[in-house]
Amino acid sequence: MLELRHVSKVYGEGLTEVHALLEVNLAVARGELVAIMGPSGSGKSSLLTIAGSLEDPTSGDVVVGGASLQGMSRREKSRLRRRSIGFVFQDFNLLSGLTAAENVAMPLELDGTSARAARAAAMTALEYLGLADRAEHHPDDLSGGERQRVAIARAIVGERGLLLADEPTGALDSINSEAVMRLLRDITRRGAAGVVVTHDAQLASWADRVVFLRDGRVVDQTVPPAGPESLLASGPQS
Ligand code: ADP
Ligand code: MG
Repeated sequence: MLELRHVSKVYGEGLTEVHALLEVNLAVARGELVAIMGPSGSGKSSLLTIAGSLEDPTSGDVVVGGASLQGMSRREKSRLRRRSIGFVFQDFNLLSGLTAAENVAMPLELDGTSARAARAAAMTALEYLGLADRAEHHPDDLSGGERQRVAIARAIVGERGLLLADEPTGALDSINSEAVMRLLRDITRRGAAGVVVTHDAQLASWADRVVFLRDGRVVDQTVPPAGPESLLASGPQS
């Protein structure tokens, strides 16, 4: 679903030149959740914005759902983002003037879906995230955990196949952080491809793979030790 091929990204030039990414290769299939870890400034956010077509790589190519971004026009990329790519950020990025349902419906409405169909899809996504009773609330009336679940609903509404989350648990306590990772795990298992940036090795253990970045390079890829889910699966059944 997502492939980065020899992706490099250089910001600035001359003395201010920064190599944010260097020859990064990464493939994420549907059904797969990949965690990205690395120190601050190692290129994690650059990797996500380039994977999500928000920025172009300096060299290399990105392929989403079989389509190369290289030859795409701005308009084609923005359509790809509306239809196929969901973003989740640390600070939620919800519109405070809109209700939860309106926030979730918005990407579909922007893509030309009728208000009624968009609303129905938004309600389905909110129900899946356990927020049906919060649909008419505004973000200011929701807890941090609820806001992030609304943002996740907005990222998956319309069945988008690629979910990109940049430190989605950065503003949450440990219980809500675990809940967010559990949801990302479930969403990807249902057929999306997911990439999640996290600082927390415990949270990263929800992923199928952890990719470590340092100074813009992939320095290690590991299959994490048995995570919380496998403990649940093999633990005593009630
Ligand atoms: P991380 O998310 O791992 O903290 P980033 O991808 O944000 O790292 O940044 C990687 C490097 O690229 C850093 O040195 C950062 O300062 C630089 N960088 C990121 N975005 C820009 C930009 N828009 N302009 C200039 N430099 C940038
Ligand atoms: Mg970052």
